Amino acid sequence: MRKNLILITLLIISNIAFAQSDKPKLVIGIVVDQMRYEYLKRFQAHYSEDGFKTLMKEGFFAKNTHFSYIPTYTGPGHASVFTGTTPANHGIIANNWYDKEINETVYCVQDDNMASVGSTGSKGRMSPHRMLTTSIADQNRLHTQFRGQSFGISLKDRGAILPAGHTANAAYWFNGGNEGKFITSSFYMEKLPKWIKEFNKNTNQYFRIWDTLKPIETYIESGSDLNNYENGFKDKETATFPYDLMSLKDTNDNYDILKDTPFGNDMLTDFAKSLIENENLGQDTDTDFLTISYSSTDYIGHNFGVNSKEVQDTYVRLDLNIANLISFLNKKVGKNNYTLFLTSDHGAVHVPSFLQDHNIPSGYFDTKQLRRNIFKFVKNKFGDSKLVEGFSSNEIFFDYNELEKQDIEADDLQEALYYHLMQYDNIDRVYTREMLEFTNASNSFDSAVEHGFHPKRSGDILYILEPAVISYPKKGSTHGSYLSYDTQAPLLLYGKGITAKQSFERYHIKDIAPTISALLGIAQPNGTTGTIIIEALD
Ligand code: ZN
Ligand code: ZN
Ligand code: ZN
Repeated sequence: MRKNLILITLLIISNIAFAQSDKPKLVIGIVVDQMRYEYLKRFQAHYSEDGFKTLMKEGFFAKNTHFSYIPTYTGPGHASVFTGTTPANHGIIANNWYDKEINETVYCVQDDNMASVGSTGSKGRMSPHRMLTTSIADQNRLHTQFRGQSFGISLKDRGAILPAGHTANAAYWFNGGNEGKFITSSFYMEKLPKWIKEFNKNTNQYFRIWDTLKPIETYIESGSDLNNYENGFKDKETATFPYDLMSLKDTNDNYDILKDTPFGNDMLTDFAKSLIENENLGQDTDTDFLTISYSSTDYIGHNFGVNSKEVQDTYVRLDLNIANLISFLNKKVGKNNYTLFLTSDHGAVHVPSFLQDHNIPSGYFDTKQLRRNIFKFVKNKFGDSKLVEGFSSNEIFFDYNELEKQDIEADDLQEALYYHLMQYDNIDRVYTREMLEFTNASNSFDSAVEHGFHPKRSGDILYILEPAVISYPKKGSTHGSYLSYDTQAPLLLYGKGITAKQSFERYHIKDIAPTISALLGIAQPNGTTGTIIIEALD
């Protein structure tokens, strides 16, 4: 009798263990566009207990995670987080780059074969076709025989499309201007689902008054509201609180102004919740995937700079968005049924004019002037300015047909431009194609250049500006370099299968995707070069 009881008990226990899958029902990958690691710490006193702090305390908190390539831009950042590799392999070498095959500049998710869905304009003509490798969401689709669903959402098209991958059920992004709607591409579907059409009817509710959430005098972790380092909005004299969006929208591209305020993040959070609800994410045993890229943080950083009250308030408010999302997931999917990670796509530099006022080496570089000088130099030296046919980011592209016609060796042009560029103030280093293809990096900066270099897509010469020198207007922050202000990112993993722990181990962004693969027990994205973060896994 007793033996039977034990046997029955064992059977019940094993049944429960079997029914409770060891996999999460939903993985949520959050990217906060332009989020510097230090924002977690600098603004911590103002965070609630249920947002960032919950992730930091109850999750795996990696405090030394970096991008390992250049350029640290949005397209490459999102692709790298979800493919587990770098531009050298996934091929998203910038947001825009000069395409040598067709001799024009292309946008990373542009796809002229597609049509817009939900918009009368061309903003939906997009797809992930330029990304050469799979994303972690793709691998989950393959593993589950396409039963596990994948969705990507963002205010930016590239922030939605690249993470969700090639096999996504859908990617949705926000089309501002006079439309103010979430839209998609014919790559995914022919018409928007009904729930999105409904959602789109109410986007004007986000035109609110942006004042600081907490009394501005308590924001002692950022500079004064009024200073010389911020752009602000058209039709408002100073870049100071409060900002009344209803009265500013007409002169600031109507719905586009939402992107430039924390209300863009509020709207995206509401959209994420609607999506989880309407698409029944996390409701069965096949793991679903949702990628959320918060873009307003990037627009606000570009507009006001790293040290602004506006950036601080944006993160204090984003913390509440995260708390709201976690509480929604706990209710809808169940506390131990999902895994969430949060990172960024790059950091940002302090406004150089602000740094200069505090004697920190920094400055501004005139890229247009440099390009004019290069044509002049090449013409003087080789008698033909057409030898250089294109530029993008900090890269110079040669015209190989022209080189052949003139009987000039590419090596000679590389060498001449190397010495020419090294003479500029503010240019720190120069790399030639020869150096990147045939020598191995000996330090982390060289390595970052190598990992951003795609032999077929990248240019023939690449130059690096000195620390905190940017090609940008004198107000606001930007990003793109291999320096720690651009490379260090927050990394938090939380939920099912994750150990609560803090770590100062140096990890790379490309390690995230293989770690999620290990957690789910699925194949790694096909171009993975990152490694599994073992200490994060339960
Ligand atoms: Zn970005
Ligand atoms: Zn301000
Ligand atoms: Zn940016």
